[in-house]
Amino acid sequence: MTHFKVNTRSTRSNARTGVLQTNHGDIQTPVFMPVGTQATVKGVLPMHVESHGAQILLSNTYHLMLRPGVDLIRQLGGLHGFMNWRRPILTDSGGFQVFSLAAMRKISDQGVTFSSHLDGSRHVMTPESVIDLQLGFNSDIMMPLDICTGYPSSRDQAESDMLKTISWEIQAVEHWRSKARGQHLFAIVQGAGYRELRDYCAAELQKYDFPGYAIGGVSVGEPIEEIEAIIAHTVPLLPEHRPRYVMGLGLPENLRFAIAQGVDMFDCVLPTRLARHGQFFAGNGDRRNIKNRQFFDDSTPLDPGCDCLACSQFSRAYIRHLMVAKEMLGAMLLSIHNIRFLIRFVDTIRSEIENGTF
Ligand SMILES: [Zn+2]
Repeated sequence: MTHFKVNTRSTRSNARTGVLQTNHGDIQTPVFMPVGTQATVKGVLPMHVESHGAQILLSNTYHLMLRPGVDLIRQLGGLHGFMNWRRPILTDSGGFQVFSLAAMRKISDQGVTFSSHLDGSRHVMTPESVIDLQLGFNSDIMMPLDICTGYPSSRDQAESDMLKTISWEIQAVEHWRSKARGQHLFAIVQGAGYRELRDYCAAELQKYDFPGYAIGGVSVGEPIEEIEAIIAHTVPLLPEHRPRYVMGLGLPENLRFAIAQGVDMFDCVLPTRLARHGQFFAGNGDRRNIKNRQFFDDSTPLDPGCDCLACSQFSRAYIRHLMVAKEMLGAMLLSIHNIRFLIRFVDTIRSEIENGTF
């Protein structure tokens, strides 16, 4: 398979640029993927997500299987047709939400039984059913059921979660090989902060030649130094010719670090979550709050260097007014800006890698 091609390798770091082919088009890497958990990037129209440069969206299997359910989404054209998004979609397995949101979880070798956080109804996720759900959504990139070990964790817990994750991933990849039509399945390397577990997990999963490799279990509450240490340790364990994805990372300084280690893909809810609290990115990635008094009569855009819809048409003073008055347009504009900021941030790094300056 040649669905991923590395184009440029930095001579100054382990950074690289590449192209990842999917059923819904090519993705230039490194790439930041906005998150649309409920088949919507909160507060932003799909046409604006696209026009602000998003190459791919992330959505969530756990939420969509519970509501509205895979049958409806399949009937209405898969996730692309349902939400009117033309470009690629990555769906996560839902494992993370089962372990963070659902009640009464029961894990077995076969999978996990849980109660919905919405209405208490009982559900089962198996490695195979999670693949079938994502095939029903017609996701371009699918993730296998895994156990994301929390922080802090004992070595025994991390090891047992990691071993179960590997066996689930093997079941997933076998099921995927028999059913997929061009959709990619990525592996997820777990092992918490224990290097020898990361080593073992990465080596085992590579035997199955997954189309891509994710580093899971980071950004789960540990300090940034720990996140960076796990990334720096794990990336060199992953195959050179496959895309590498760190799940749940989204601050500019974290993206810069991870790209320099050789990571290609990122997702995070941060740009829209921060926006709903009035926060926006500016300059080199500093975060500011529009509700601060200093912006009361500020006629300049959120970030003078930004080309987004919010920055090209509205002042800080206006957006501050919207947020203070609790008008929904305020968070919508801040969301568009924050998404565009991160996409532009990664686009700039991609150009720098190509120019030999990163
Ligand atoms: Zn902007």
